[in-house]
Amino acid sequence: MSSQIPVAVLGATGSVGQRFISLLDHHPWFKVVALAASDRSVGQRYADATRWVLDTPLPEYARDMIVVRAATESIQAKIVFSALHNEIAKDLESQFAQAGMAVCSNASSHRRGEDIPLLLPEVNADHVNIVKQQRINRNWSGCILTNPNCTSTGLTVALKALDDAFGVKKVFAVSLQALSGAGYPGVPSLDIIDNIIPNINGEEEKVEWEPRKMLGKLNDNKIELADMRFSAHTNRVAVIDGHTVCASVELARPTDPETAEAILRAYSAPESARELPSSPRPVIEVRNEADRPQPRLDRLTGKGMTTVVGRVRRDPILDLKFVVLSHNTIRGAAGGSIYNAELLVQEKLL
Ligand code: NAP
Repeated sequence: MSSQIPVAVLGATGSVGQRFISLLDHHPWFKVVALAASDRSVGQRYADATRWVLDTPLPEYARDMIVVRAATESIQAKIVFSALHNEIAKDLESQFAQAGMAVCSNASSHRRGEDIPLLLPEVNADHVNIVKQQRINRNWSGCILTNPNCTSTGLTVALKALDDAFGVKKVFAVSLQALSGAGYPGVPSLDIIDNIIPNINGEEEKVEWEPRKMLGKLNDNKIELADMRFSAHTNRVAVIDGHTVCASVELARPTDPETAEAILRAYSAPESARELPSSPRPVIEVRNEADRPQPRLDRLTGKGMTTVVGRVRRDPILDLKFVVLSHNTIRGAAGGSIYNAELLVQEKLL
């Protein structure tokens, strides 16, 4: 790319926002021109406004940038990465699309829109094309792309490989979700240390619905939801980063664990999503050790973009069971949004 595309980050001081700042450092296509957050932070140097919690240093380029209001008048960018909470994202993201910018959102407020792509490029890259219909329907020149909730992310990648090969009919999933998924400062330490919290507001409904949209077929600019049934339990655990999901599946054409492992290992992204700067390499890593994947050891596989699967075995009630791990603020949030934006650019839809 001869000149870099100007991008902005909304919610730049939060848990996902910090990942954006880190992942966009030296990005080959994108240059960060604006960082926005709430009135609490506006007017401050980024380094003063944020409480940096990542274990990599705050990139130099962002340190002295002055945080601006999350408003279309304050930002001149072509792509806007949104790490805003849902209530704020709903109207604000539409305003940015109306102003001609492409919004890559982590919030859930637009995910169910019929003309809004809910994207994991390694799963459903073709769904990005609905933005053409979105522009007609909504009479705006920008667009909104969304990524799924961070628990559905790795699960859906593994289900895609299995669905293509064997047809997935039912999914029973139990999550063990990291603290960074609750944003900063998140869950009080006295609630989570020595504890598990067996409820994350609204999460089970998302895990039971979002994979069906991503695994659905795009026909005539509409997505038909995949014909699969889901039951999810979602739990918060005392892990910093990396969501683990224990899943059991019923298959239309049952198979043995060895064949399923080979299919998972061989899965590759659709061609358009294979060679982008943030493409996961590999898409799925299958671990053979009896006690993997583990968040602390495996979450940074493929720079945090790879889905790690292990413990593939027979399920005595359904057909197969396995464990999936995905980095929630990288693949499940900021890295996923950047990957979506790269796909939009490559498909000449920006
Ligand atoms: P967070 O840590 O609480 O950060 C929220 C950000 O929004 C902060 O930068 C905050 O700025 C800013 N903000 C708050 N009110 C605002 C306003 N009125 N106008 C403009 N900016 C405002 O939250 P998070 O965990 O990063 O989550 C962000 C979004 O990503 C949420 O929709 C979440 O559901 C989604 N998501 C999160 C994850 C994850 O793993 N964390 C994964 C997938 C999706 P100040 O610092 O100035 O208050």
